[in-house]
Amino acid sequence: MPHDHDHDDHSHSHAPPEDIVVRVKALENLMIKKGFVDPAAVDEIVEHYERRIGPHIGAKVVARAWANPAYKARLVSDANAALAELDVSRLQGEDIVVVENTDKIHNVLVCTLCSCYPWNLLGLPPVWYKSTPYRSRIVKEPRVVLKEDFDLPVADDVEVRVWDANAELRYMVLPQRPEGTDGLSEEELEKLVTRDSMIGTGQPARLTK
Ligand code: FE
Repeated sequence: MPHDHDHDDHSHSHAPPEDIVVRVKALENLMIKKGFVDPAAVDEIVEHYERRIGPHIGAKVVARAWANPAYKARLVSDANAALAELDVSRLQGEDIVVVENTDKIHNVLVCTLCSCYPWNLLGLPPVWYKSTPYRSRIVKEPRVVLKEDFDLPVADDVEVRVWDANAELRYMVLPQRPEGTDGLSEEELEKLVTRDSMIGTGQPARLTK
């Protein structure tokens, strides 16, 4: 099972080293040969992480919150229960807290130790999320990183809050609903929710009409 708590390794590169890839493959082959694992089960798990979990799950949650104020209130007060309502499973038993962006607060996520990330809502983390520069700089100078690295300037009168995830507690950002989306259905709203808007390094997409 993929795991993102390699707290001993503080020098992440952007792709697994080749020797690790080879070792993983060798282990998998050995376990299949010994009858410990079923190759179809391994394929199923990989398929699950690569295709079935992804930002579309978080986007569904955000769209529901935008469309339904009562759901939004439950989501920001007790995300674990609110996510269960939408059958979003907790992959590793971790708690989720949803932090809401407002006119006065902009939230952004990081894991300063490694790469803890709300997998069950957003799928696999982007490479930059795991990178050392992002993990160290977003805490020290979030406004600069957001502006320079993500082209997301935050106004001076908006407070930036940085949330540091860990193995037991993960965060997701609830971005602000874009203007001019009043008549949209939940399905239409869902399409506007970007992965980065749920990390806090981007905004939802704009309507293209
Ligand atoms: Fe971590």
